[in-house]
Amino acid sequence: MQAKIEEAIKNILSAIGEDPGREGLVLTPQRVSKSLEFLTSGYKQNAKDILNEALFDSSNNEMVLVRDIEFYSLCEHHLLPFFGRVHCAYIPDKKVIGLSKIPRLVDMFARRLQIQEQLTEQIAEAISEFSGAKGVGVVIEARHLCVEMRGVQKGGATTTTSALRGVFLKDERTRKEFFSLINVAKQVRF
Ligand SMILES: [Zn+2]
Repeated sequence: MQAKIEEAIKNILSAIGEDPGREGLVLTPQRVSKSLEFLTSGYKQNAKDILNEALFDSSNNEMVLVRDIEFYSLCEHHLLPFFGRVHCAYIPDKKVIGLSKIPRLVDMFARRLQIQEQLTEQIAEAISEFSGAKGVGVVIEARHLCVEMRGVQKGGATTTTSALRGVFLKDERTRKEFFSLINVAKQVRF
């Protein structure tokens, strides 16, 4: 895989009019290949392995919220970064998830080619499926370099997406509690 990527990057450098042999670029194909391997390492992991080892019996049935989980991903349309914060909440049903596993799950899905809407859905779906939670809410706030560096070139615009499952969909009070806890509108910080 590494050799294939290196060859492709050399071709891209030539195609944009650069000299892949000049000093500053000679190791670039190798660096890009290594970097891509890391940025797409999520394809080699799965949600089951991450979450199954970390489910603990509990009688807690109050909302658990992990907020401000930083993430970095690549958009599947332009291979440019989008990045920001994920807020994840769930209401357990006899099982709670080890807290460090939710950021790991976010990293796993983020280190694949993504669009923000799909990333949001996949995180919600995995938590819902593997923990059997009564409900799940996921909100992502992100900046997209494919929007800021090219296209409409609107720097600093934030895109917010959400995915709700179970009681977060059915019960307005739960949903309101979630959105007021994360307080999305008031605290966009990058
Ligand atoms: Zn894009």
